[in-house]
Amino acid sequence: MLTNSVLSAEMTDGHHDLRARAAEYFTPEWLDKWRTAPDGRLRRETWRELAASGFMGVSLPRELGGQGLGLLGALVLGEALAGVRDGGIALAMHVQNEIAADWLVSARDPALRDRYLPGLLAGDLVACQCDTDPSAEEPATATTEGEEIVLTGRKKFVINGATADLCFVSAVLDGAPAILAVEKSTPGVRVTEVYDKFGTRSVDSAQVEFDRVRLPADRVVSRSGVSQLMRWNRVMSRMRLLIAADAFLTHRALLEHITGYVRGRNLGGRPLGAWPVNSHALARARAHQELMEAGIADAYRRVTAGGSTVPEIAELKWFCVEKANELAVLCTDLEGGAGYMWDSVSLRAHAQLRGFRMSGGSQTTMLTIANHSMACRAELELTPADAGRGRGRG
Ligand SMILES: Cc1cc2nc3c(=O)[nH]c(=O)nc-3n(C[C@H](O)[C@H](O)[C@H](O)COP(=O)(O)OP(=O)(O)OC[C@H]3O[C@@H](n4cnc5c(N)ncnc54)[C@H](O)[C@@H]3O)c2cc1C
Repeated sequence: MLTNSVLSAEMTDGHHDLRARAAEYFTPEWLDKWRTAPDGRLRRETWRELAASGFMGVSLPRELGGQGLGLLGALVLGEALAGVRDGGIALAMHVQNEIAADWLVSARDPALRDRYLPGLLAGDLVACQCDTDPSAEEPATATTEGEEIVLTGRKKFVINGATADLCFVSAVLDGAPAILAVEKSTPGVRVTEVYDKFGTRSVDSAQVEFDRVRLPADRVVSRSGVSQLMRWNRVMSRMRLLIAADAFLTHRALLEHITGYVRGRNLGGRPLGAWPVNSHALARARAHQELMEAGIADAYRRVTAGGSTVPEIAELKWFCVEKANELAVLCTDLEGGAGYMWDSVSLRAHAQLRGFRMSGGSQTTMLTIANHSMACRAELELTPADAGRGRGRG
């Protein structure tokens, strides 16, 4: 992504240095060393090790304790993280470095930043983002009681939910949306389930319960109104762009793997990849990959230039994740029976990509966002006369 695209022109010495360090560091062997068990999750102390090795706060400005490498730094790090071949750590690093750090840097009360950001950057604190309610009818709710806030709710499938020390919880506070910073050690916070799962196994996914948790009123990171919506959109769009890049990187690795495989496997008197049904399918995948790369570069430019991003990045996440999943299905088929065996490169990649379908919001949600915004854009682009006729019809 970064060697052969418009993004490479933007890379500074700092990005090149990060790229070289991270590529050498993040290998499957490194991951095996830091897991609780084979195929298990990262040990807690890995977060301090990641910080000591210079992989925290890459995008944050230097004056806030970061490395000043911006969104491009996060993409460079994401590219290296793909080298461990488990998408969990990338998701968790995006949450820690991008979502949590962003909430703190832009918190209503700067004291929240000073309280938590240094710990986050040192790996002493691990963060999680708690959004997914059991259903729309059961949102987490919070009410102000004097100098305190009382929070009740349950959040599902939270990446790093079991390991994290600090939860950023979306809740309806006094009737309006808000984000609250909740220390895991607060009475009433409990991890009620740690899920077993198909992919992204290098970090846990957990259910976290908040049972009449009492917080000081200054733990409100963001609340109600247009600015809350804008901050939510900014943080989530950034996360979705990074997930789109994760999917692209998995696609790229898969395409490289399968191209080699179908060249070497002879079936029916010629290489598997020489049969038109397969060569056409792989040519389509190559075209999709080029579109993904162009889309990521365009989204990067939009984010850094401050343009419209929410629908465009939702479309991008949908496209990259959808096409990468399609390629993974094709690759497991091309590997035949071997593609069903757990050490299959394609099956392992497929397991990560299934997770990307839901993280950052489901694929259906991405289409819904894109669709709503297309309808809004169409409305805004109506001529005054058209708009008048529309009103006339009531
Ligand atoms: C790897 C991974 C990481 C995650 N990380 C986090 C995290 O860190 N924090 C967190 O809070 N959550 C996290 N999640 C949860 C994720 O955000 C949700 O799973 C996702 O938003 C879908 O919500 P749900 O599971 O409740 O599914 P449901 O809401 O039950 O939806 C099920 C399916 O129905 C579709 N659907 C819903 N409504 C409609 C409709 N009206 N019409 C048509 N289709 C509809 C959805 O798009 C989805 O495909 C993660 C999930 C995964 C798999």
